[in-house]
Amino acid sequence: MRLLLKNMVYIDSEMVKAECGDILVEDGMISSIGLFGKTERNGLETFDGKGKTLVMPGFVNSHTHAAMVLLRGLGEELPLKEWLEERIWPVEAALMPEHVYWGTRGAIAEMASSGTTCFTDMYFEMDQVADAALHAGMRCCISRGIIGDDPKKMEEGIDLFRRRNGKGNVRVQLAPHAPYTVSLEAVREISAAAKSLGAGIHFHFLEAEWERSFLKDKLGLYPFAYLENTELLDLTSTILAHCVWFPPEDIPKLKGTSVTIAHNPSSNMKLGSGFAPVPAFLAGGADVSLGTDGAASNNRLDMWGEMRLCALIHKGITMDPTAVTARSVFKMATVAGARAAGFDDVGLIREGWQADLILVDLDKPQYEGWTTENLFGFIVYAGSSRDISGTIAAGRWLYRGGRFMDGEYEEVKRQISRCRKELVCSGNCS
Ligand SMILES: [Zn+2]
Repeated sequence: MRLLLKNMVYIDSEMVKAECGDILVEDGMISSIGLFGKTERNGLETFDGKGKTLVMPGFVNSHTHAAMVLLRGLGEELPLKEWLEERIWPVEAALMPEHVYWGTRGAIAEMASSGTTCFTDMYFEMDQVADAALHAGMRCCISRGIIGDDPKKMEEGIDLFRRRNGKGNVRVQLAPHAPYTVSLEAVREISAAAKSLGAGIHFHFLEAEWERSFLKDKLGLYPFAYLENTELLDLTSTILAHCVWFPPEDIPKLKGTSVTIAHNPSSNMKLGSGFAPVPAFLAGGADVSLGTDGAASNNRLDMWGEMRLCALIHKGITMDPTAVTARSVFKMATVAGARAAGFDDVGLIREGWQADLILVDLDKPQYEGWTTENLFGFIVYAGSSRDISGTIAAGRWLYRGGRFMDGEYEEVKRQISRCRKELVCSGNCS
């Protein structure tokens, strides 16, 4: 497909201010940026932004469990451990592969309509997740979540990497669930396997306060010593979801390691976990990305909402209006997440980079007064995902003008409704 986005305003996190121009998309990539008055029109679709449409990189949801859309609303307002053990895990035990497929399709629709073009997913039945993403045209980084020490699950994760990593916009990582669900020895083994495969790791770390005493009392390790002991600091990529209770004195040691902290502000607040020290991570030179976590603990998959929340809460907590700037949270939501997911040419508006793009309608009252200089602030504080007029992943329209472009939205809704009934309401509703 060849697509010319004409008369656009465009911005990414490495630009100091927005620029105006045309963007030519060919073969899924941004092939050139400039002014193309006389572009060869054969087979070319043209979209005229009329100087009032913004193009920005699509969001990369750096930590989610997409199929958990089927579990949304379960165990509301319970503490993390109770919520997992009593409400979530029993339902997940009944999940069949097709539930994961349709749940992921539902999540992809939700994400596409709110500007996400890539998601990093830890769950199970991951072939279903990859198939759903490939069918829907969305980029993903998947990992088989491992709970317990069953070597079969680790083998499944490794097998998934061998079969699917790098095929058709899919990346694969290995994923021990958390220090309290997988033994130290097993995490070491998984980490060693990741090292030899060249795979990244996706891991929940220090989400709740009690995890710190768990590490110390049960394993005799402080958090950073745990990361050293399991050799998680020197891999292709190490996504540590949450890190709410990361010790401040160890933050400078993260610089230059393979760690990216996937910050999930809504989920951390909703589960009462606390506030990750994001300003200190950024000041210490750590890499930080942004995620929604699963829809059962957020309950949205809206990266724009996370971006705004992140920029606001840390200013409030630190009583510092310069904490987590609009531009830095924009980077967290886009290119930082893409790098952690193993996509080195995703997340910026650059020639030769992937055409994973969002179109935003600036012709709305909340954008009155935008300039190329102040646009980051308008996007993060005044805008919302409701302003998205188009979502493009790998050069393909996923969502445009309020409509899903694959023509399967009604079927996806029908299927997720059926799956939800099978999993949650069986015997309880008609
Ligand atoms: Zn999670």
